Amino acid sequence: MTPAVDGERLWRELETLASFSDAPAPAVTRIVFGETDLRARDFVKTLCREASLVVREDAVGNTFARWIGSDPTRPPVATGSHCDAIPNAGRFDGTVGVLGGIEAVRTLQRSGFHPRRSIEVVLFTSEEPTRFGIGCLGSRLLAGALDPSVGDTLTSNGQTLNEVRASAGFSGALSEVRVPAGAYAAFVELHIEQGPILEQRGLDIGVVTAIAAPASLRILVEGEGGHAGAVLMPDRRDAFLAAAEMALAVEAAARSTGSIDTVATSGVCDVFPGAINSVPSRTRLEVDVRDIDLARRDSVLAHIGRSCDDIAGRRRVTVRIEPINADPPARCAQRVIDAIIASCEAHRLRCHPMISRAYHDSLFMSRIAPTGMIFIPCRGGVSHRPDEYASPEAIAHGTAVLADTLAALSTAEAVEGGGSGRL
Ligand SMILES: [Zn+2]
Repeated sequence: MTPAVDGERLWRELETLASFSDAPAPAVTRIVFGETDLRARDFVKTLCREASLVVREDAVGNTFARWIGSDPTRPPVATGSHCDAIPNAGRFDGTVGVLGGIEAVRTLQRSGFHPRRSIEVVLFTSEEPTRFGIGCLGSRLLAGALDPSVGDTLTSNGQTLNEVRASAGFSGALSEVRVPAGAYAAFVELHIEQGPILEQRGLDIGVVTAIAAPASLRILVEGEGGHAGAVLMPDRRDAFLAAAEMALAVEAAARSTGSIDTVATSGVCDVFPGAINSVPSRTRLEVDVRDIDLARRDSVLAHIGRSCDDIAGRRRVTVRIEPINADPPARCAQRVIDAIIASCEAHRLRCHPMISRAYHDSLFMSRIAPTGMIFIPCRGGVSHRPDEYASPEAIAHGTAVLADTLAALSTAEAVEGGGSGRL
């Protein structure tokens, strides 16, 4: 068992990181490659260098800080998360996994531990989809789950990803971001739960066994606009009303599976022209569907497609559905799960296996490395809000478990054959 985590220092660093924000405290807004994000990254890199870690960045800005092990030829063990934050978010989503990873390394260093495999802390670029419309941009490219041509096709305010990353100082070919399966012996991510289960059950640690499969799609409806006074009701082909029915059909499709693990959300609805006295001619919905069971998730997507066609036919509008992403679920690696549980037992912390309904960079890391996740409770299960809160004690517990887990994995002969934890 390693010496105590310096929870006070870690808490101060989390507060400093939260001060790099485009929104007033306690809200945090940190959009990838914005000036604030770049200053936050500099802060993180400084902490890594102070801990004598070797820092490297790839073409999309994924940042790697390596503690060189006594046998650097072996694939390293990695941990990490993200520092970008959606508009008006909180202080702990992602940041606990990055700064907690650095403190886990410092804790091991203070204890006199020398890793056999190198231990690497990773800051992934753009886990949040805010700027480019797709989540986990950095880890997707790293795991080869996204074609490097997205550099020219993903855009933000008319600028391509390639242009935006170049102006942020990240050049080089996106094709070089990918690392092969087996490049890491294991990957472990520390994260707030973003749900209420741990708090409700009085548990210290959630040991993630699987990550739900996310999919998202764009539903584009085109009808006919006109004057709100002049176009008579029987003649209307209102794009928004069709989209409204489609949003209800999305809900019905998710409920129809009868499983609590199926969820679907229509979180974006853009109405054109958006004037009070104009019949909507175009509407764009963006829909998120998740399930731990891939076949069931895909059946919900098919159900949504059929319903949209029916509604469009009935309302004499056209509908086009564009998939944004449809990823398989991930199953965490048993050896990593076992190491996390052993670490909880050593620290006398109450842990429980659980499923991650939110997805994380771990979903993609699991394609190339045996992967596990350590969840800590957050107040009320609240996340992506300014009042998101995890206690200093909970963060220190998670960091201690992470430290011991990394230590165990870094000395293990082989963590698991091959690289894929996919279902
Ligand atoms: Zn996160």
